[in-house]
Amino acid sequence: MSLYYADIFVLPLPSHHRFPMGKYVRLRERLLASGEFREGDFRIPDAASDAEITRAHCPTYLERVAAGRLDAAEVRAIGFPWSERMVERSRRSSGATLAAAREALSRGWSANLAGGTHHAHRARGEGFCVFNDAAIASRALQQEAGLQRIAVIDCDVHQGNGTASIFAGDDSVFTFSIHGARNFPFAKETSDLDVELPDGTRDDEYLWHLERALDETLERSRPQLAIYLAGADPYEGDRLGRLKLTRQGLARRDEMVLGTLAARGIPAAITMAGGYAHDIEDSVDIHANTIRTARRIWDHA
Ligand SMILES: [Zn+2]
Repeated sequence: MSLYYADIFVLPLPSHHRFPMGKYVRLRERLLASGEFREGDFRIPDAASDAEITRAHCPTYLERVAAGRLDAAEVRAIGFPWSERMVERSRRSSGATLAAAREALSRGWSANLAGGTHHAHRARGEGFCVFNDAAIASRALQQEAGLQRIAVIDCDVHQGNGTASIFAGDDSVFTFSIHGARNFPFAKETSDLDVELPDGTRDDEYLWHLERALDETLERSRPQLAIYLAGADPYEGDRLGRLKLTRQGLARRDEMVLGTLAARGIPAAITMAGGYAHDIEDSVDIHANTIRTARRIWDHA
């Protein structure tokens, strides 16, 4: 099995920056320390190529990102200062989701230990997202493997607005997002299925909605591949989340999504997406549990 990581491609951030860059290397260390994974399970992905990126993004946007020619407002919307390393990290992270999607088709599941950059639109980035990894992976697998039906199951607490806009009017990729109604992005896009939850939503209510929406997603899309954004930010201890899921609730969420996909024989490419807990170790725990849950489910599938 393979888990793809890009945590060695760290981009320089000022010390007060609220993006938890250190989360990713800790996640890989946590998984190694669990004894359930070997060094050889962890792989560095290739960078997504220009051709792969421009199936999902406007070529001039890619050129401007690569050359550092975004204007100040565009850089502010992304939330990272521009650097060569920002570009490299964004390419690698998209490459990791693409690699995980390819592997999922042959082995049932795989994961990117980062990714879930669902706020990136066709011609602009936003909210710590430069390139949309799910869109890049979807387009690549349509091209390479001839997939005709893909579902994006976005359980990050923020709406997958970039993914929704890239695939608007495209029946080949079904976009489902379950998120906080009052969370960023404040102007939402229209996914194929959106579930908006009020502030303070707890485990049982969340899972009630998720179960129904997941059924509807799989019913309507009949996917040959699912890309699951397992955001850790619906957690009650998250700084940016507004919902009140416990760790147990998030574990049940992962079991519900991954268990359903495995039971129906749908390959799953998993990405981590957001996680901004007051104590970053909580986000790391939640992400690590997602990976361990996938391993357990597919080992017994
Ligand atoms: Zn998020």
